[in-house]
Amino acid sequence: MPNYVVNNVAQPNGDHEVHQTGCNYFPSNYRDLGWHSNCVSAVVAAKKIYSKSNGCYHCSNACHTT
Ligand SMILES: [Zn+2]
Repeated sequence: MPNYVVNNVAQPNGDHEVHQTGCNYFPSNYRDLGWHSNCVSAVVAAKKIYSKSNGCYHCSNACHTT
């Protein structure tokens, strides 16, 4: 299972992006979300930290909605 993190720095639209380890856009300032079988549960975990969380377009496209 991949390890996921959430970016501590919001995007211009206010979303905190969720990334997998190894993403080309991996943030330097992040909070660890631990291991998740898919981005859906990772985004759920991220939303407990930041209510506006969204999957990264590049590494978690299935969870990228905004
Ligand atoms: Zn990413």
